[in-house]
Amino acid sequence: MNLNDAIQECWSKIDEGQVATYIPALAKVDPYQLGVYLFDVTNDKKAEAGASQVRFAIESVSKVITLLYAIERLGLSAVEEQVGTRQTGFPFDTILNMEITKETHPLNAFVNSGAILISSLIEEQDGLSPFDQILEFSRKICNDPDITLNEEIYQSELRTGDMNRSLAYYLKAKEVLTNDVTLSLDTYFKQCSMMVTCQSLANLGAVLANDGIAPWNNERIISSEAATYTKSVMMTTGLYNESGTYSVKIGVPTKSGVGGGLVSAAPNHYGIGIFSPALDHAGNSVAGLALLELISKKLKLDIFRY
Ligand code: GLU
Repeated sequence: MNLNDAIQECWSKIDEGQVATYIPALAKVDPYQLGVYLFDVTNDKKAEAGASQVRFAIESVSKVITLLYAIERLGLSAVEEQVGTRQTGFPFDTILNMEITKETHPLNAFVNSGAILISSLIEEQDGLSPFDQILEFSRKICNDPDITLNEEIYQSELRTGDMNRSLAYYLKAKEVLTNDVTLSLDTYFKQCSMMVTCQSLANLGAVLANDGIAPWNNERIISSEAATYTKSVMMTTGLYNESGTYSVKIGVPTKSGVGGGLVSAAPNHYGIGIFSPALDHAGNSVAGLALLELISKKLKLDIFRY
């Protein structure tokens, strides 16, 4: 398929969304950008088009990386004791679902409460702070040594992060989050402020698609179990309340971020990274999802397809 044509076809979708404004540094991003990078793990072929090399804030796509790192460090069962695998039916940063359901632990790892709890599980090791470890692991699993923290985004997250603070303190009050709350929040704010490209996300998707083995050097980066678990959680909760909608429309495990990024892993086939900053009401890239739907249809990537 011609990726430039696909981008043209989805371009007008940008006007149906809006860049995230609740984080001031993200509000300044030009909405008129759409990029894609495909990594075919069956033959090592890559293809890219549009804004595929533009750096943008990873935001919630970092939740995939931190989840994988926590599983590697602590084991899957320890992580499963902390977060569930169910949809909340509420926006990603709400505290409501925990109050209403009377669940003590966050319903999944991709809403903010779950992600902050996962970040809190990473403890200092060999003199490296939790964030330094996440950054190092991100560079490795995305095969991108140029991932760095964007100070402006980080400061913006700090200034506007009171909902996240309230979630973390709620979890502390319930004795669910037992490590240092300030450090846990700082780790979370920093992980959201890492700058990536479509290529970095396609590489991350390729490791997941390839059962945990990096297709560029055949090194196993994560266990098969971690890759399988994370793809399932991406499919069921990766696009927030719209996860069911896109499970039917696209059928490829995907995680979004409010920076406009999408990472997808089509098992045994493709890692896909997409960027377009205008978002729908749930916080997902509008043109990005339109492009992903087109790619999934053209390349027959829907995992439920016969
Ligand atoms: N840093 C953002 C927040 O915590 C991430 C949200 C997202 O990408 O969904 O609100």
